[in-house]
Amino acid sequence: MPAVQTSIDVALGVAIPSRNARGRIARLGPVVDSILANHGYPPVIERLLAEALVLTALLGSLLKEPQGQLTVQAQTEGGMIDLLVCDYLGGELRGYVRHDPEKVASAAANPTLEELFGTGYLAITFDQPEASERYQGIVPFEGKNLAEAAQSYFAQSEQIPSLVRLAADKRDDHWHAGGLLLQHLPEGEEGRERLHTRLDHPDWPHVAILGGSVKADELTDPQLPLRDLMWRLFHEEDEVRTLGEVALARGCRCDPDYVRSVIAKFPADEREHMVGDDGFIRVDCAFCSSSFAIEPGQLT
Ligand SMILES: [Zn+2]
Repeated sequence: MPAVQTSIDVALGVAIPSRNARGRIARLGPVVDSILANHGYPPVIERLLAEALVLTALLGSLLKEPQGQLTVQAQTEGGMIDLLVCDYLGGELRGYVRHDPEKVASAAANPTLEELFGTGYLAITFDQPEASERYQGIVPFEGKNLAEAAQSYFAQSEQIPSLVRLAADKRDDHWHAGGLLLQHLPEGEEGRERLHTRLDHPDWPHVAILGGSVKADELTDPQLPLRDLMWRLFHEEDEVRTLGEVALARGCRCDPDYVRSVIAKFPADEREHMVGDDGFIRVDCAFCSSSFAIEPGQLT
């Protein structure tokens, strides 16, 4: 018997044509493991970043340009975290979280979104260089979890009825994460710049109820193919279409030459203050935790 074809580290385009719904379903495994391996975060932060990476994959795979970039950023205060940044470029994901380890250590096992982040903003930036198209939406960071915060982003910033579900689970020392994004986009609509939106279109509540019934363990189960899961959720519909699949990978774009060129622009006396006890200027990449050691003498 042939092995079951499952797809991991992919985002799959999906559509329910009769209901004017489209979106993405994604599942991540090794990509999340490899991104988290470089950070050494506590479990509660790992789970959050895993979910944020799924969200980034769902949104990034909506970009039409192969060199389009998508950034998800939460900037907050008063919680355990003050900054979360994830981005997507050509199927490559990266992300990091700036947090207060003491606050995280003294927190309950399942902190609320407010305990995690306090108050602040969620910004999502779509950048498509070929079309010179840059769009950034910023909304208050609110909801019970990251998925709700993303939903409220779509409702407030883009006025597109949207469903977002995210889940992440660590089993046998490996992370399994998954997510679903569905949007009500009548035929021909591309999203954004819409003149008129019907948040009460009868198709939408139906899609939102069926899509919203997805369970966290269905999203994360590596044995359950994404196509089967879509069919399980929407089998009463005439047609559930699956579109292109985007392969996801871990990627960072930090570059020693670029780092050196940035440091070289500082005045000499400021550079002197950057030199550590070992004689090097050390610059760390927040995204991938790479550390670059620059010899001050090589900068001029
Ligand atoms: Zn890096």
